[in-house]
Amino acid sequence: MRYSALQILKQGLTGNRRWERAWRKPDPKPSYDIIIIGGGGHGLATAYYLAAVHGQSNVAVLERGYFGGGNVGRNTTIVRANYGLPGNSEFYSHSLKLWEGLEQELNFNVMHSQRGVINLFHSDGQRDAAARRGNAMINQGDDAILLDRGDCRQMLPYLDFDQTRFPIYGGLYHPRGGTARHDAVAWGFARGADQRGVDLIDNCEVTGIDIQNGHVTGVQTTRGAIRAKKIGIVVAGNSSRVAAMAGMRLPIESHVLQAFVTEGLKPVIDHVVTYGMGHFYISQSDKGGLVFGGDLDFYPSYASRGNLPMVEHVMEAGMTLMPMLGKARLLRSWGGIMDMSPDGSPIIDRTGIRGLYLNCGWCYGGFKAVPGSGNCFAHLMATDRPHDAAARYKLSRFETGFGLMDEEGTGAQHNLH
Ligand SMILES: Cc1cc2nc3c(=O)[nH]c(=O)nc-3n(C[C@H](O)[C@H](O)[C@H](O)COP(=O)(O)OP(=O)(O)OC[C@H]3O[C@@H](n4cnc5c(N)ncnc54)[C@H](O)[C@@H]3O)c2cc1C
Repeated sequence: MRYSALQILKQGLTGNRRWERAWRKPDPKPSYDIIIIGGGGHGLATAYYLAAVHGQSNVAVLERGYFGGGNVGRNTTIVRANYGLPGNSEFYSHSLKLWEGLEQELNFNVMHSQRGVINLFHSDGQRDAAARRGNAMINQGDDAILLDRGDCRQMLPYLDFDQTRFPIYGGLYHPRGGTARHDAVAWGFARGADQRGVDLIDNCEVTGIDIQNGHVTGVQTTRGAIRAKKIGIVVAGNSSRVAAMAGMRLPIESHVLQAFVTEGLKPVIDHVVTYGMGHFYISQSDKGGLVFGGDLDFYPSYASRGNLPMVEHVMEAGMTLMPMLGKARLLRSWGGIMDMSPDGSPIIDRTGIRGLYLNCGWCYGGFKAVPGSGNCFAHLMATDRPHDAAARYKLSRFETGFGLMDEEGTGAQHNLH
């Protein structure tokens, strides 16, 4: 079924009883050409591009829970391409371009809203760093505007410009950045993959990876054994656990990241605003909730919920930047598991086991990467060659030290900065 305004009218006039399921619910087949482990944003996008771009439809996505129940449905929905280092810069630029055509490509409203991202800075040194990053973004073909304090006051009048702890000097404005409805992205890719013949299998946890003579042959799951010629591990915060099934030890630590949303309010914040010095960022959802978050809970965990010290820290930072926040009532908070890599940059690569591929290390920024990651990982799995935009995301950089991309300049333990 093609979604359109006419379809909405037609269904509305006939009592909304003829909408079709967005995707089938198949049982697993005994074997596939390709198995993707993990039905989050990256896994579903990979399956979609495998089918749509590379004509590979004998593909299954195995998800232990329900599709979109992981981080893809838990993030704060920010989409941007404001990275500064070679490697990341071209990848996120590629991903943002895919975002810009995604709704037409998927025939699905993912509510992509390019409302602009503003990263505030609070010292001369930070202004220099922001200017450098902005120039790198412009060199990459993306957009960046350096705002001074007066510009910020005009665009963000609700911030506290009198606070002296971290006075606002200005901001780096990325107009093409913004937000998207996170679970719609998972649903859109799921529907697109299913329409092209991919089997989406939920409630199917992978419990083992079968390897013979250095080559993958299939997986063990809670719904039985399934054979496959190629397998992609795309399980975000569970990457270390699943890779361990193939005898691999990854340079990944899993940490909780929390987020918060207030009751719905009238439109008040029309950009995404980040306050790096305080570890705080905020935007407003289309339903009116103020959506905000801060930093990681600083201990490794596989539990999708956080602890109170970080709640206090985020609220303090929010109140410092934007005292009006204290008037809003908090509706919900939640957590997701981040796959933190040592240099804060991801891995899209083959492994030492033939037919086994790895996609992980997205830290707290993998939502905006969903189309780019799926596109590049599908390219790698289908052709056995890295996509140009993701050529630097090699696993070996953590072994050799060559090609590390320390985007935030936080050193070897990005998770503890
Ligand atoms: C609070 C929060 C805020 C965030 N904010 C942003 C943001 O604003 N912008 C941004 O770009 N990024 C953000 N992120 C990060 C982003 O959400 C993640 O990097 C990204 O979603 C991870 O990729 P994914 O969607 O594939 O992960 P997931 O949705 O977690 O998918 C992985 C899937 O693998 C499944 N799985 C695990 N083990 C197995 C197994 N053994 N067998 C089968 N299936 C398995 C899981 O159930 C899960 O569904 C945020 C994350 C959180 C938690």
